[in-house]
Amino acid sequence: MKIGFIGLGNMGAPMALNLAAAGHDVSGFDLTAPCPEGVKKAASGAEAAKGADVVLTMLPNGAILRAVAAEIIPAMSVGSVLLDCSTVDVESARAVAEQAEAAQLMAVDAPVSGGIGGAAAGTLTFMAGGTEAGFAKVNPLFDIMGQKAVHCGASGAGQAAKICNNMILGVTMIATCEAFSLADKLGLDRQKMFDVVSTSSGYSWTMNAYCPAPGVGPQSPADNDYKPGFASELMLKDLRLSQQAAEASDADTPMGKAATELYAKFVEEEGGQGTDFSAMLPRFEKRARSG
Ligand code: NAD
Repeated sequence: MKIGFIGLGNMGAPMALNLAAAGHDVSGFDLTAPCPEGVKKAASGAEAAKGADVVLTMLPNGAILRAVAAEIIPAMSVGSVLLDCSTVDVESARAVAEQAEAAQLMAVDAPVSGGIGGAAAGTLTFMAGGTEAGFAKVNPLFDIMGQKAVHCGASGAGQAAKICNNMILGVTMIATCEAFSLADKLGLDRQKMFDVVSTSSGYSWTMNAYCPAPGVGPQSPADNDYKPGFASELMLKDLRLSQQAAEASDADTPMGKAATELYAKFVEEEGGQGTDFSAMLPRFEKRARSG
């Protein structure tokens, strides 16, 4: 396929490379990031999009996605697919899909899980929203860039699934960290705490696969001085998207709200920016009950 790729950052560059390595003809554009070798450098988003069967976007947020979509949709060929893999708000995903469909294009929102390691290894999970025909056309690309793709429903459903998943992730990380902190104060050894919880009803991905306590459980960012991994500010971005969606759909999400407030404080006031989101544990360690 002829593929336009817009947004060649930490995630986009390795994804574009995997598509090129699989034999696709990939033209890439980014405002600042370099174009990886093997991907043809386009002079603008519109140039990358022109004549492409699929235009893939991997951008920071919904406002940027909307601006880029307004630029590239007029350049795209009738019947081609606009495939957005960024994590953005559900409303932006739906608005961009409507514009694309009005121009006789197909649109698929397909945010990813798996981080930069998964992008490089081609083992991402895609959660997709859009029509059956749009999903069928881009599914072979998901096979190259990832290990699993779930068609979640109509436009916006991929973003909805991503936001709900990451709200659970943020809440669970906080619960795991505060439980370790309580265990510390009760004099419980962290390894014993892990041995019990990881095989009891408190088990979770944050405890079992991404343990926030250094030296305990499988290798995780906690063992690398809390270097990300998944940065706290990205967790905050996703939690804010969950609260924006909850607000718009009148959903009651008290734990999601509390997690958003805690990560906002951590990132914006307590030096958490640039640390992995599991660095909530050293944050709790330092605090007293009233703090
Ligand atoms: P990034 O900041 O490294 O890359 C985004 C790129 O978009 C940058 O290189 C930037 O220059 C480019 N860009 C911005 N505006 C542009 C424009 N108008 N035209 C062309 N290029 C433009 O971010 P990332 O880590 O690659 O993340 C991309 C998306 O994937 C985000 O929505 C993020 O939430 C999501 N995501 C990231 C991870 C992760 O672990 N990094 C995991 C899952 C999902």
